[in-house]
Amino acid sequence: MTEKGPNFRIVGNIPPEQKEQEVERLKGFQREKHLQIPEDEQDESDREKIKELLGMEYPKTEQEKRVIKLANDATNQILQKYGLEPYDIPENNYHIVPPETYKLIRGEDGVAFAKQVEGLIVLNKAEMKIDSLLFAECLFHETLHMKSHLSVEIEHRRPSRVEEPETPNPKLRRIPYRLGLQVQSSQKQDDNDRMHKHFSGLNEAVIENHTLGFMDLVLEQPDFAEEKKWMESDEAKELKHQMAKDDNLKVEDIYYISKDGGTYWTIGYYLQHEVYDYACSEIQKQFPENYQTIQDVKDQFDIAFFNGKIMKLAHLVEGTFGQGSFRRLGDMTTQEESAITTMEALRKMRLNKLKAK
Ligand SMILES: [Zn+2]
Repeated sequence: MTEKGPNFRIVGNIPPEQKEQEVERLKGFQREKHLQIPEDEQDESDREKIKELLGMEYPKTEQEKRVIKLANDATNQILQKYGLEPYDIPENNYHIVPPETYKLIRGEDGVAFAKQVEGLIVLNKAEMKIDSLLFAECLFHETLHMKSHLSVEIEHRRPSRVEEPETPNPKLRRIPYRLGLQVQSSQKQDDNDRMHKHFSGLNEAVIENHTLGFMDLVLEQPDFAEEKKWMESDEAKELKHQMAKDDNLKVEDIYYISKDGGTYWTIGYYLQHEVYDYACSEIQKQFPENYQTIQDVKDQFDIAFFNGKIMKLAHLVEGTFGQGSFRRLGDMTTQEESAITTMEALRKMRLNKLKAK
């Protein structure tokens, strides 16, 4: 596969040649060198976690390797749809670990997560055993995170101090600034608002919008023939309808239900995704001459997710929901409550905008 990496951007007060070097460095981390981040760029606890990770990792089964390939192929298809060069996340960057290790690395229980700068994807083996379809979906989700836009802000730690000329890498402070659509606070704002994140809920919704397409592909694989047979049975269809009714979901958003009906899987970040759907459908109504379908609008969000340029989205959202609405959408976090209040706020803003016409 080609050497092309994600759309990296380096911002900060370093010379252009050094920015080039930084891009090469980042590419290395996102490839086989992903566990070689120098000690001075990680805090003590992160280093310990990575050591632990290396020791406890399971060898991958052939089926797991096939799912990794499928996730790479499917995400590459999305890149190619937007004229971007495809590339694979190496198999070695996916780490399958026991639940206790997962918790140690992540700081909480869960199924999967990605660290984009490090090129690291960690998956919880226990969860996968329970449900191989969920495993496939998580693997796809994290792979898409990894291939999204990455901006890193780099500053000299002590700009006033003159570094010795032979020092190849003067002390630099590297902070991810944009991950996909998600914007972190810049270093300059850190003092007032250290944890500030923007567009985290929207970023997840844009990823999850690809889930159902990927699950269709998964069910076509011989590895998942049994799951496919079950999901196409009348019994499964009936259970799905019942569950959709009980929990107020769209039946087509459920991609798996267990045989006892006790467990089902839908599009993740469900409420954030509903907000995303709503926003795109109103944008399409506002600009029908530019966007014939809701998917045409979603394409714009996908493109921004990969290239990091969000000005066009700001224009579309504000043009539909009024001033301040893009910022309000950006305030949506990954919490359910936040998606609910964002939906209410956007509906109100849209109503006001239509009245003002
Ligand atoms: Zn995510």
